[in-house]
This record gives sequence, structure tokens and C-alpha cells, in this order.
Amino acid sequence: MLLGFLAKDWFSPAVSPLGEFSYDLHRQLAEQWGGKERWGWSESAGWSLDRPNDEETGKNGDPAVASNEPKTDLDWLMNGTSRTTVITNPQVSPSETNGLDDVYPRWLQTDPAALQLISERTTTGQVDPLQLCRFLLEQCLANGVILHHPARATKLIKTNPNDPNSPTLVHLEVVETIDDKGHSESSTSSPRTDSISSSIERSSSSGSTSARTPSIREHSVWGDRRTRSIEISCDSLVIAAGCWTPRVYRTLFPNAKKVPKVSPLSGHSLILKSKRWPAEIVDANAVPSSLPRVCHAVFTSDPSGFSPEMFSRVGGDIWLGGLNSSTLPLPNLASDAHGMISRSSIRTLTDVAKKLCGDDVEVIEEALCFRPIAPTGNPIVAKVKERDLGEGPKPNGGVFLATGHGPWGISLSLGTGRVVSEMVLGKETSVNVDGLSKWDI
Ligand SMILES: Cc1cc2nc3c(=O)[nH]c(=O)nc-3n(C[C@H](O)[C@H](O)[C@H](O)COP(=O)(O)OP(=O)(O)OC[C@H]3O[C@@H](n4cnc5c(N)ncnc54)[C@H](O)[C@@H]3O)c2cc1C
Repeated sequence: MLLGFLAKDWFSPAVSPLGEFSYDLHRQLAEQWGGKERWGWSESAGWSLDRPNDEETGKNGDPAVASNEPKTDLDWLMNGTSRTTVITNPQVSPSETNGLDDVYPRWLQTDPAALQLISERTTTGQVDPLQLCRFLLEQCLANGVILHHPARATKLIKTNPNDPNSPTLVHLEVVETIDDKGHSESSTSSPRTDSISSSIERSSSSGSTSARTPSIREHSVWGDRRTRSIEISCDSLVIAAGCWTPRVYRTLFPNAKKVPKVSPLSGHSLILKSKRWPAEIVDANAVPSSLPRVCHAVFTSDPSGFSPEMFSRVGGDIWLGGLNSSTLPLPNLASDAHGMISRSSIRTLTDVAKKLCGDDVEVIEEALCFRPIAPTGNPIVAKVKERDLGEGPKPNGGVFLATGHGPWGISLSLGTGRVVSEMVLGKETSVNVDGLSKWDI
């Protein structure tokens, strides 16, 4: 369960062009397709909440903030502090926050004087990531994309092993859950959300149908799961496997001398309900209101040593997270994370929720997810040089990396998708991402 906070200008210089571009794409997409109703898009006011222990350490419990040391994305990522440490100039001073009734987070049970508005509604926003992904997938399928899900890419093969220029195939292991009668429950066109992994291809009117039609090679049964292997043609390959990118890269390019470094930063989170933040009735047929309801992002610190982040959402949920760890091991499958949830982390978050929102707040969901962190703290959006793929089959159109988005993968998602598609097509990219090409450090 991810959050979906979006920012226009909370990024380091190398990421800024992509950050702004992506934020604008989120707004345009929402305006064009009814994003408020369909995926909970909304503007969001950002607040910093000073709590008593902040005095010794500076805002957000981070000593470096008190000493005015310059901060980078990497500092707060690695130290588990708040993402607001990257904002050097809050846009609104405490004295100016009087009269900001329409953006004030009424669901918080705290002293209003301790709150400072740090971002305007026009430069920060929110989406429900699951609903946004569902919408995007629907559009992809409607436009001819073929989805194999859940699936794992396991090998690259040349159709003619003696000719390095012959077409390349990707060997996929498609995993299906089977019911009591041994029937498969999965289908290539109806994705489930408990993904193992997925692979997509674009059907093309210029491509030969036989080359595009996956050929099924073999079946095997594994517990209540059945796997079948298929091969699909591959002109270009985009590896966008988050924290699993190094594993996928090593599997597909076993002779490569170096592998992109992406490490996991896990985060526990809760979804809460409070009677002080009721759901907004959102009617898909209603005339869009001229002044949309503003959601909230609240950043604070806690004496237990972490930096809680809270977000009120269009659907009447409040999301609470910020309890992060770089030592929790990455599970083999993304869907295994749920079984790794720590009870003590959930208790810590629940205590914070009650302190900040009142004892009557109700926990309705618990989650654990992994952010992909690259060594620079910035995403990697790059075409891989052929020599870095090592000996062996490779797609003729090239291999691209889109990973390492850390805490900003939802905000940067639309821009990254657009830019990577332009790279694959050999076009000039909409924004300059040269600063994001470093992956072999
Ligand atoms: C608690 C938490 C809160 C967050 N909040 C925000 C936020 O508010 N705003 C924001 O912008 N970002 C947020 N993020 C960050 C954001 O979720 C990530 O940056 C983003 O999910 C990264 O996307 P990705 O597609 O690169 O990787 P993932 O979302 O991790 O997806 C990688 C996929 O690759 C698949 N895969 C693995 N192995 C293989 C294989 N062999 N073959 C094929 N596929 C494979 C996996 O199954 C997985 O589905 C948050 C993250 C966490 C953990």
C-alpha cells in the first residue's frame, strides 16, 4: 500500500526537470480523464508540525536541519528522516497561516500554532497509486499492449544463435495460481493486484503476428501454482523492476561485469479512518467543482526517533508512514512483503496515530513496501552501453533502465514513462535527463 504524494519542486537539480514535467503530466492526465473521481487525484497542502522534542534537534528531529547544513535527498533517505529536509525555504511563514481555513488539517488533534504551511496546494498533490495504475493499465490494454502477469523474465535468446543480428526473444516464466480442480485462475488480460512481477509487450501493426504471438514451451506445477514458459520477441528491453532490478539484470545478462546498484529502503505504513476526515462524495457524473477539496500532507518528528508523514486523501483515508529501515532484506517476490510486517513497527505507528489524530482513530490496513534507492539518491533513467551488457544475446534496439526512484517513484512515474518511451523510439526526450544516466558507480 503506497501513498501517492506528488511534488512539483522538491527535487535535487538533476531530478528537477523530470519532477516538474511529471507533476504537470499528472495534472493534465487528471483533468483530461476525471482523475479526481477515478484515482483520487487532488491538490494537497503541505504542513510541518513542530512537536515538543523538535526544539533540541530542529524541525523534523534532524540535527542537521538545526545546524543549517545543506541537505540532499540521500541524507534523509539513508538516515530515515523526513522528506521535508530538502525544502530549504518554506513558502509560507507561521504568521501568514491565519485565515487558511480551507487548507487547514482539521483531523489533527494538535496545537494549531505548531503547524506551519510549507507548500501551496498548486505545487503538491496526491493520487491513489493502485487506482492510477489500474487506469493506466486499462489504457495500455485498450491500445494493444499485451500483458503477461504474473511473470518472470528469465533469459534472452537469439532466434538464430549463429547470427548476433537475428531477432531476440525473451523467455518468460508465467506463474498461474490453480484452483482445486487444477484450472488456472490467471489470464494475460485480467491482472491481479498480488503481483509477482509482470512483463509487457506492445503489439505492433508493423511487426509480424507470428513473431509477436508468444510460443508456449512447457508447463510445470509448483505447490498451488503452475508455471508455463513462453517466448516473446524483443526489439528493446526496459528494466523497471524497482529493488529487484539488480537481480533481473544479472539474470538476463549473466556475463555483464557490473550490475546496477539499487538497494531497498523498506517502509511500514497504516491506513486510518477518523470521523474528522469523512470521505468526500465523489460522483463521476457530477460537474467538476471549480474549487476541489484540498487534501493534506503533514510532516513531523517523534521522540522514538523517526519522522512520521501523514496524508489525508480524497476517499476519506488518512495514510501514516515514515517508519523506514535499510536493513530489512528484500523478499524474493514483491507479494511476500506482507508476511514480513513487524508487529512492533505497527504498534509504534498506531501509538503515533492516536497521539496525533485522537484515540478514536481506527486502523483499517497495515503495509510494508520497499523503495528502490540508487547510490546517488537520484533515479536511473538511461540507455545501457552495449559493452556493459557483457557477452551474450541482447536486443537490437537496446536495453534501458528506469529504476532507483526511491521515495518519488509515483510522482516521477508519468514523466519517466514518457521519457523512456522517447528514448526507446530514438527521439529527443521532452526534458533533459542526462543527470540521471549514472548507474555504474
Ligand atoms: C511506504 C512507501 C511510501 C511511498 N510513498 C510515495 C509517495 O508518496 N510518492 C511517491 O512518489 N513515491 C512514494 N513511494 C515510492 C514509490 O512507491 C517507488 O518509488 C515506486 O514504487 C518504484 O516503482 P518501480 O516501478 O520502479 O518499482 P516497484 O514499484 O517496486 O515495482 C517493481 C516491480 O518489478 C517486479 N519484478 C521483480 N522481479 C521481476 C522479474 N524477474 N521479472 C519481471 N518483473 C519483476 C516486481 O514484482 C514489482 O512489481 C513510497 C514507497 C514506500 C515504500
